Amino acid sequence: MRLDPGLAASIESDTALMADFEAICDCGGRLAGSAGERRALKLVAELGRKATGIAARYHSVPYDGWKATRAALRLADGTPAACYPLVFSAPAPAGGLAAEVVDLGRGTPADFSRHSADLPGRVALVRHELMFAAGTIHRSRKYRMAREAGAAGFLIAGPLAGAVVAGSAGRSGPDGIPALGIAPETAARLGPTSTGFAAVSLDLDTAEAPAEAFNLIFDLPGQYDEWVVLSAHIDGHEVGESAMDNASGVAAVLAAMRALAGAVPGFRRGLRVMIFNVEEWALTGSARYVAGLSAAERENIALDINLDSVAGSPRLTALTSGFPALGPFLAGVAAANGLALATHLPLMQNSDHANFALAGIPALRLVAGFDEPDANLRHLLTPADTRDKVAPAELRRAARLAAAIAVAAATAAPEEAARWRIAERDRASN
Ligand SMILES: [Zn+2]
Repeated sequence: MRLDPGLAASIESDTALMADFEAICDCGGRLAGSAGERRALKLVAELGRKATGIAARYHSVPYDGWKATRAALRLADGTPAACYPLVFSAPAPAGGLAAEVVDLGRGTPADFSRHSADLPGRVALVRHELMFAAGTIHRSRKYRMAREAGAAGFLIAGPLAGAVVAGSAGRSGPDGIPALGIAPETAARLGPTSTGFAAVSLDLDTAEAPAEAFNLIFDLPGQYDEWVVLSAHIDGHEVGESAMDNASGVAAVLAAMRALAGAVPGFRRGLRVMIFNVEEWALTGSARYVAGLSAAERENIALDINLDSVAGSPRLTALTSGFPALGPFLAGVAAANGLALATHLPLMQNSDHANFALAGIPALRLVAGFDEPDANLRHLLTPADTRDKVAPAELRRAARLAAAIAVAAATAAPEEAARWRIAERDRASN
């Protein structure tokens, strides 16, 4: 269905869209627990209230707080190398870790098994991969393989010349090994030498303590107690401005809610705008939210439309989380609004939509640059994730598409919404 031309025009002419985006970027990288994250949350609460007249509800997210208090890496000749501790990394042993480095290349399961005899007691070196591609191997899986192989430390080399890479180690539980993101030039100096493995010394101190962050919830009621969730995460990493990931998604969500607020009371379903927090730490904010829903509340959510990294390329893809009926629905909405949209069916657990999907709630992630290795999205999690990578037209397109999908979902007939809930695995077993 076509978005009302007046609503579409209001998004096209919305000057607040870029201003909001820049104001969020101005808060810095926004690591959960940092002053920048708290400033951004307060800012978005205020922007959302201004957009809708509705005050944000603060939803508590208890989580395992973590911060690095000191990190250093030195090559065998004593040269210091830039490094960035992965979130949730374990500390190095007291006095630091001096060890040889096994360069695993990409760090596939085959790479790990080929080097299984070399790894115990040494540092595993792998490469960061483009996240938005079929077949990508996630950093946290490589970290787990390194630990299981008995490695004493973990280094991951970024994709961007001269820049470190950030991310979460995905550690759960008290055990772990120290993990640092490094630049590709550093990795190039850590391959095997004529006399054996290269060596490094690595220092990393961390502090861990229970912490609390907050998700923001703005409820715009429709005619029934049924909801379409429009979501985006606010937190990021301290290496850049976390501009594409995910100031872009938050700004687009704000623009969509600003345009739609007056129309939602006429829709069958309400719009629940959720600004998730602690996403970069294993999707924690949305996991807490979904875990707190009763069966009836889950049933009353027709769809989660999650915007994560929606600019940096003009091409948008919907990751439809194993719900086959979502693809044709979304393709229809995009076509009716003259927008291009690719879809990708398998569940990708790379943002907050995954927690909805795992709970049986139809969910999609809108993402830019999927399977586009040269798109600006390749700079995600590096110091180059900055506002200059985002074109205003990309942000407007994402906001317009999100609004169109939200309206179509909020007004869809109950039979149509029921079809979305049929997951691929249900089909397979039928
Ligand atoms: Zn993200």
